[in-house]
Amino acid sequence: MNPMEIQAAPPAIPGTRWIKLSLSKRVAFLVVCLCIALVALDAWQLWRTRAFQLRETEIASVNLAKSLSQHAYDTFKEADTVLVGLAERMENGDSNELKFDRLHALLAARVAELPQLHGLFIYGPGGAWVVNSQPGQPARLNNSDREYFIYHKTHSTRSPHIGLPIRSKSTGEWIVTISRRLNARDGTFAGVILATIRMDYFREFFESFDIGKHGALLVATDKGTIILRRPFDIAYFGRDISAGPLFSKYLHQAPVATNIFTSSLDGVTRINSHRRSAAYPLVILAALSRDDALANWRMDVLTHGAVMTLLVAGLGFLGFRLTRQIERRTTAEAALLESRAELLAANEALEQIAMQDGLTGLANRRCFDLALAKEFSHARRTGTPISLIMIDVDNFKQYNDIYGHAAGDACLRQVGAVVGGAVNRPCDLSARYGGEELVVLLPGTDAAGAWCVAESIRRQVAALIVPHSGAAAGFVTVSAGVHTFEKFDAASTQVQLIVAADQGLYQAKALGRNRVCVKEVNSRVDALERA
Ligand code: GH3
Ligand code: MG
Ligand code: MG
Repeated sequence: MNPMEIQAAPPAIPGTRWIKLSLSKRVAFLVVCLCIALVALDAWQLWRTRAFQLRETEIASVNLAKSLSQHAYDTFKEADTVLVGLAERMENGDSNELKFDRLHALLAARVAELPQLHGLFIYGPGGAWVVNSQPGQPARLNNSDREYFIYHKTHSTRSPHIGLPIRSKSTGEWIVTISRRLNARDGTFAGVILATIRMDYFREFFESFDIGKHGALLVATDKGTIILRRPFDIAYFGRDISAGPLFSKYLHQAPVATNIFTSSLDGVTRINSHRRSAAYPLVILAALSRDDALANWRMDVLTHGAVMTLLVAGLGFLGFRLTRQIERRTTAEAALLESRAELLAANEALEQIAMQDGLTGLANRRCFDLALAKEFSHARRTGTPISLIMIDVDNFKQYNDIYGHAAGDACLRQVGAVVGGAVNRPCDLSARYGGEELVVLLPGTDAAGAWCVAESIRRQVAALIVPHSGAAAGFVTVSAGVHTFEKFDAASTQVQLIVAADQGLYQAKALGRNRVCVKEVNSRVDALERA
């Protein structure tokens, strides 16, 4: 038995440096993932809000265009209905109906009924007005130079014609015209019937909408001439925008649609909803600025960006601190484990020193006492035999006297090596009992087996032929006493085992040394001795 085996094995060192480091890395990874997830979630939400905002603006522009279109249709339709009635009267009415006063009163009454109407005029084939709605009937201006007059004179179509914005010759107001051709009974040109619509009527309606800082509203002829545009600027009246994206591209694609493009007039990018009127040669456009639509969203982005930056910085800082703390704790724990391992190793070494004999390397007396107590109680409990061999170097005092103590020590080491090598089983123990006395404890070994081991030791020591001039044999020999407990009774104690083995040794000395004696020799050992 190894002297250390009677001690409990040291507990396994829990945890490893790798696991601790892995934990800090895992925490750092988790914090990074959390930050990325937060930023990604916020960015995704902002993107959705942006898309929602643009969609809302698109819907608003579509509704606005629809409203403007309906208003323009109603405005022109009402004026045109008056023109249709008047034209019918002018072409087919009797002389009574065509009297100047009656016509004048009729025109004035119609103008008074419709708020959009600036005036109603009937022109003869030469361009001079025949009658109009204006009070006092101003001087007879000739309008044969007006675009609408020339148009009807040169076009036989009976469809209404919407003219360019012009300044009224009679009042100086900005007006837009809708006119129809008058035919004589033979189909020849008989003049023009004209309704002038106040631009302010449209303007007031246009101004009633909130279109943001950079929004725009437009009514134009289907040829691409501006009738009215908000923001209002006289310079826009009559401007040709047929080369712009609306007329050159989008109107060709669909009569009603919404597109994002940059205005050729002011360079602003807008969400543009256009509608081509089915009844009149008109195009309506409601355009809301993308920048206006996204202004609040951009503020949100800035606020979210700032909050997210703070949040991520805070989380990053906390994560960094946490990781550092974990690393520090891991390092401290590793150092602790290291010193614990060192302590355990030192304790183990100390235990070894405490259990080992310094000269022979065998177990010492303390270790032997502990092992004997343990194995004796085990043998008693299980009823298995236990044997003890007590060995003593013969005439060792004389050896010291002759060869000196140092040689005596060397001799003891040689004898110790033989005794140590004689035990094979893990529970066997060879020890230095004291001075030049050695013991061998053989649990589970009967008397015959113990005798064999003792005799083997004796023979091996003799075979060393260590010269000893003081001994009868001329070399170093040992004597041994053996005792075995095969049956236990109330009086069986470990002291009795030692005493009996010692008595065997005493007997061996008394019989002349260099022999093995059993205190109470039974027949089997006796037989072995005789052999
Ligand atoms: P015997 O046993 O044969 O009857 O004679 P002995 O000379 O061996 O008898 P005794 O037991 O009286 O002598 C033992 C001697 O062993 C005494 C002591 O000087 C010596 N001795 C004990 N321990 C040591 C040791 O560690 N080293 C050395 N060199 N000598 C030791
Ligand atoms: Mg002795
Ligand atoms: Mg002796």
